[in-house]
Amino acid sequence: MKLVILGGPGAGKGTQAQPLCHHLGISEISTSNILREAIACSTDLGREAQIYVEKGELVPDPLLIEFIRTRLVQPDAANGWLLEGYPRTAFQAEELDFLLDDLGQQLDWAIYLQVSESVMMSRSLGRCPLQGIASSGSRLDDQPEIIQRRINLFYERTIPMLEYYSYRQHLLTINADQSPQQVQQEILQKLNR
Ligand code: AMP
Repeated sequence: MKLVILGGPGAGKGTQAQPLCHHLGISEISTSNILREAIACSTDLGREAQIYVEKGELVPDPLLIEFIRTRLVQPDAANGWLLEGYPRTAFQAEELDFLLDDLGQQLDWAIYLQVSESVMMSRSLGRCPLQGIASSGSRLDDQPEIIQRRINLFYERTIPMLEYYSYRQHLLTINADQSPQQVQQEILQKLNR
């Protein structure tokens, strides 16, 4: 099975991805892990991507799709995969489809973990409790206004991507305001597993 998992900050993508891949016997492919490894190993692509990742900027699309291409042809991806962190835009979704065409593969489902804005905010803030900020020093991207900006960006970029998948009847929308176990159950039910 070939899947992508989508959702805003705090939607639970990482939480759901691991048990889901385990259950389905497929490989979890996380864009940030691919980038982190390539940078650590100082591969050609890693060195190019490093400049952007260090500044917190999005890695340019043509570069990123090369990472995905390299990763999807690894032997462990042959049984299926779940992509996390990619695509983030409708353009990337289209690029992914072109790549899959080229590889003779097809996406089964885009799983969208839908949560309310207030849950996104409270879960993102919850990752770094206020007492933690006070004792260990605050990081800029944990501030409520920065989280709000990430949420706004998510809506701006993701809604067109949801339309892209929904038009192609590849979209599974999951109520992710529930507990992690309930979310997992709903995903498996909708995948008929
Ligand atoms: P994350 O941990 O998902 O926030 O990703 C860390 C960094 O990796 C981001 O700041 C970007 O530089 C890069 N990155 C991850 N996913 C993507 C993507 N889909 N498109 C462009 N850049 C990405």
